[in-house]
Amino acid sequence: MPTYEYIAVNAAKACDHCRAGFEVRQRMSDEPLKNCPQCGNAVQRVISAVGISTRKSTKSLLSDENIKKHGFTRLVKEDEGKYRKI
Ligand SMILES: [Zn+2]
Repeated sequence: MPTYEYIAVNAAKACDHCRAGFEVRQRMSDEPLKNCPQCGNAVQRVISAVGISTRKSTKSLLSDENIKKHGFTRLVKEDEGKYRKI
């Protein structure tokens, strides 16, 4: 089962558990977590390079093109709690 990393969307409201990020084991088919299991504040999944490829550099893995190719959306923080898809 893959391990996914989550981090608080709003660090100001986060608890110790989610402020620095935490890992959760989930099936690929499981819905991503939306809230911290400890404090209930919003969390977002951190895009991990693990499992996609180990031969490319992290920089190219996290390029916009590569993220889109793998079906991820990069979120840009515009304002407190607001994100814009690019
Ligand atoms: Zn929390």
